[in-house]
Amino acid sequence: MLSILKDFLLNLFFILLPVFLVPLWTEQEKGPKRLRLYLPTACYAIVIILCITLPVNAGNDFIFDLRQIPLWVGSLYGGAGPAALLALVTIVYRSLFGGAGVLTTVVVSIAIAAVSSLWTKRFVSLPSKQRVLLAVLLSFASGLLTVTMAEWIVDNPPPLLLSLTFLLVQPAGMLIVCAAREMVHHNMALRKRIIRAEKMEAVTHLAASISHEIRNPLTAARGFIQLIEEQPLAAEKRRQYARIAMEELDRAEAIITDYLTFAKPAPETPEKLNVKLEVERVIDIIRPLANMHCVDIHTTLAPFSVIGEREKFRQCLLNVIKNAIEAMPNGGTLHIHVSIDNGRVLIRIADTGVGMTKEQLERLGEPYFTTKGIKGTGLGMMVAYRIIESMNGTIQIESEIHKGTTVSIYLPLAPSPSPSTISDKEKQLFAVL
Ligand code: ADP
Ligand code: MG
Repeated sequence: MLSILKDFLLNLFFILLPVFLVPLWTEQEKGPKRLRLYLPTACYAIVIILCITLPVNAGNDFIFDLRQIPLWVGSLYGGAGPAALLALVTIVYRSLFGGAGVLTTVVVSIAIAAVSSLWTKRFVSLPSKQRVLLAVLLSFASGLLTVTMAEWIVDNPPPLLLSLTFLLVQPAGMLIVCAAREMVHHNMALRKRIIRAEKMEAVTHLAASISHEIRNPLTAARGFIQLIEEQPLAAEKRRQYARIAMEELDRAEAIITDYLTFAKPAPETPEKLNVKLEVERVIDIIRPLANMHCVDIHTTLAPFSVIGEREKFRQCLLNVIKNAIEAMPNGGTLHIHVSIDNGRVLIRIADTGVGMTKEQLERLGEPYFTTKGIKGTGLGMMVAYRIIESMNGTIQIESEIHKGTTVSIYLPLAPSPSPSTISDKEKQLFAVL
């Protein structure tokens, strides 16, 4: 009796392993989707083989084990494809051992696969508790079918006590396995919901504070324009009010430039971006500002590719380059250099500006940290960090006060285009030459 229990527990252990381990792997959402879909099935197939190999009781004709549990679970949760596959594995592997039990296995496995395929949709849409109950009942039914066939078909049936034990233990095992599976999945769903809620909270929080930041200068500007309109004012006062209004509008615009492309709700899709073209585009946008500050821009660009969302990548470059130019109010040189460093794309943006102290450097990237007073938003670097993070890259900053700052952006190199497309272009080039 004790040895029977021991073997049942060993079977149960095999079955519980994938119940706990597979969700951990599939949750990472790495690897091809098809593989993730069939991973549970593959695990259950291995478990079925293990159960038959290390059974609870093996006579000449019959092998008693808990293989029906992984067969039911894999099929009910997986659908018709996994059901057929698992039934096939069971039948083929059990056939290797021979005996009258093979016929029972064939009939019972096909019955399980057929019932699961028909019921899988209804099964997964049931509430959790009912799913467990149904699975237990089904495993009892398949156990009953097995025992009936075993007792009546052959001349020397297995001992009745063994059959009865099997009849009771299988549903009990199913109860444990199914309840554990439901619990694991429930916890996983809960965790996903919490993570999403946290993200939403961060976004709402930021959006609220930024709309507040934009509303303030707009209200101030509106107030001054109203003053100009309503009261007869001396020319000097009018000019002063108009200047304040314009400054406030500039501030609102600065916040929008630093943040809004980033927060744009339209979902963008990541694509292959040519770093050279993107940097050139951003330089085009920023050149008026550079000219205003008497800043020379020197570039050595190379057309490496990275994966990311175009608008966000531009926003990030814009924020970093804008800071560099703003750090050189009396003119200077801005170097932008693109190269490969240790297999990663390196975009180095170096200025000869005011630089930063160690304390400033440490606070860089904090929302609303700025040394530019009313003109700064303190959002630019935060946004840049977020974007580079989302592209799986990193930012390193070196700075020396009164000497300048170098921002190094490292990004994973996108897979290179297939050789044929390059060689086509090269062929054309050679033809011209
Ligand atoms: P903002 O530009 O609106 O102040 P940022 O987040 O873009 O906000 O930058 C935060 C602060 O970091 C700036 O106020 C400035 O003090 C410092 N900083 C960023 N880039 C540089 C740089 N290239 N040189 C010197 N200081 C910089
Ligand atoms: Mg900035």
